[in-house]
Amino acid sequence: MSYTVLARKYRPQKFSDVIGQDHVTRTLKNALEQQRIAHGYIFSGHRGIGKTTIARILAMALNCKSSDRPVAEPCGVCDSCREIREGSVGTMDVIEIDAATNRGIEDVRSIIATATAEPARDRYRIFILDEAHQVTDAAFNALLKTLEEPPPWVVFMMATTQPEDIPQTIRSRSQHFSFHAVRFEDIVGQLRAISTAEQLTVDDDALAMLAEAGDGSMRDALSIMDQAISCCGTTLTADLVRGLIGSVSSDILEQVMRAVSNDSSEEVLRIVDKLITEGHSATHFVKQLVRFLRNAIVAKIAGGETSLLQISSDEKQRVMRIAELFTEEDLTRFLQITLRTHGDVSFKQEQRFHLELGMLKLVHAKRLLPLEELLSGAKLENASAAPGASGARTTPPSMSAPRTAPPSLGGRTPTPPSGTPFGGSRSGAAPASRPSPFEADKARKSKTDLSGGDESSDATMTPAPVGQTVASPVAKTMPTPMATMPRTISSVIPPKPQPSKAEAPLTTPIQQGTAVAIAEEQPAVETTPDASVDAIRDAVISALEATGSRMAVASLEEGEWSRTGAVVNVVVAMSEAMIDVTFGADQKKLAASTATKIVGKLTRVNIVSGTPKVENRPARKTGNSGNLKGRAADEPLVKKMMEKFGAEIRTVIDQS
Ligand SMILES: [Zn+2]
Repeated sequence: MSYTVLARKYRPQKFSDVIGQDHVTRTLKNALEQQRIAHGYIFSGHRGIGKTTIARILAMALNCKSSDRPVAEPCGVCDSCREIREGSVGTMDVIEIDAATNRGIEDVRSIIATATAEPARDRYRIFILDEAHQVTDAAFNALLKTLEEPPPWVVFMMATTQPEDIPQTIRSRSQHFSFHAVRFEDIVGQLRAISTAEQLTVDDDALAMLAEAGDGSMRDALSIMDQAISCCGTTLTADLVRGLIGSVSSDILEQVMRAVSNDSSEEVLRIVDKLITEGHSATHFVKQLVRFLRNAIVAKIAGGETSLLQISSDEKQRVMRIAELFTEEDLTRFLQITLRTHGDVSFKQEQRFHLELGMLKLVHAKRLLPLEELLSGAKLENASAAPGASGARTTPPSMSAPRTAPPSLGGRTPTPPSGTPFGGSRSGAAPASRPSPFEADKARKSKTDLSGGDESSDATMTPAPVGQTVASPVAKTMPTPMATMPRTISSVIPPKPQPSKAEAPLTTPIQQGTAVAIAEEQPAVETTPDASVDAIRDAVISALEATGSRMAVASLEEGEWSRTGAVVNVVVAMSEAMIDVTFGADQKKLAASTATKIVGKLTRVNIVSGTPKVENRPARKTGNSGNLKGRAADEPLVKKMMEKFGAEIRTVIDQS
């Protein structure tokens, strides 16, 4: 007795037996019931998902002798049904043609000649063209005439993986059915049913592995099962199947990604070495890793229970564990790198080196991230602190670049430095067109992509945009060095950079930039000779201080106060929006009532967005100047910086 491969033995014989293509079978059954038979059908979709099977079932249904007209389900026992099922050459009126080998005009001419003759025995003369996209254009043209004016008994069924390669003229004269990949659960279910029928012992993991290997194709899954049976007998385990298809255990994939997460290049290289030594194919491994990462991204985005994950539950657990270790951006970048590695490994020599390189790139890509967060984080901090003035008034890092503005010019009207103090020489960009950190970041990323993740060059490149962003705005209010900054932190010195990290040197300029930016939030305070304004100022600030509105106090302290009759104007370096946020109704009321008390008549306090004019004036006397450091540490901005970057306050210069 000859062995029938499982895919043939269990080929569905009825529409209802077909799994995963309900949308096709339902439509076809309805059409058959209503006797609406087309002359051309196109069945498209991946290999091994039932295109030819459905074409055959449709042929059976059209020609079935169990009724005197086409039936919705073939009987399966009449001569016509049996002949088609057995795929025997004896079928007179159903002709299967492999278009891959019979693609020329002569072949099609003979088809047309056959088509014009009435069916010999059955109702329809049916042509099933497999791989129909392979038919040449000339041959399709010849076929077109027959499709335009078909004899009533002719039905063409074209099965193809590439429907777009079938001429539009043919497609528009046919009904097109697009087949879906068979769902993972459906394949597993079918495999389980077949293994029961075949009296095999197959554990769940093995079934899942077969289904995964099938990749949406029932036929592929069954072919591998065939192989497994012929090599290993009737008991199939996951390990056997894995060995057969050359897969590495998904445990290895998880190990690799964990090593990446731990920044352990060494571990990654060790795993690669082990795989190669054990004789695994580099290509296959990378392909598996691609799928694994894809699934991890899906799990990250859509959660573990999504139908987008067509994998076994064990694999799902792994994928979710890995998804938790990384961000979506991480995983996306990993996938991109791995896909590129797949290309390198597949088409180039020295597979091992390409594999190792690709895996190291993953580790490097992971290391890049903290910097990215830092960059965008720093930007956000600035933005939230002073949306109106963000970036525009940032001071240069004190350490990383020379100061161009003289430390003390009697009248400190902000004088724009003649050139961009630093960064400019590198970028050559005018202050007006400086890139935002985000853009710089984006540019850096795209550069990473283009250069295949050449991180070292990124590292040297990054400071430029940062330095530049920080630097150019100086033009507006070069708030002059520490010594003239009253009451504020002269420098917030970041902790020692960790030399082990690749990006550590980069963090320094950023931290400095941000730190000085804080100081700049409170620009040097000017004095107004008008004593009564000073009195109002001190009283209002003290009153607000008592309520704990530190942001409000800080901005008022650095504001430019003036008084016109019953109106006190305070120009503060904040946007309108920020003023609204900082000064609630209560604060405004308190300010007005305090001012009224001091002036002795009804006085309003207007807080206006703008640039406070910088003038010489002693800072307000404060009650708790003894604990400047403590006060500095209480500044919300400083607090944020300390939390964000672990910065510490070294010196606070009090000029009061
Ligand atoms: Zn029949």
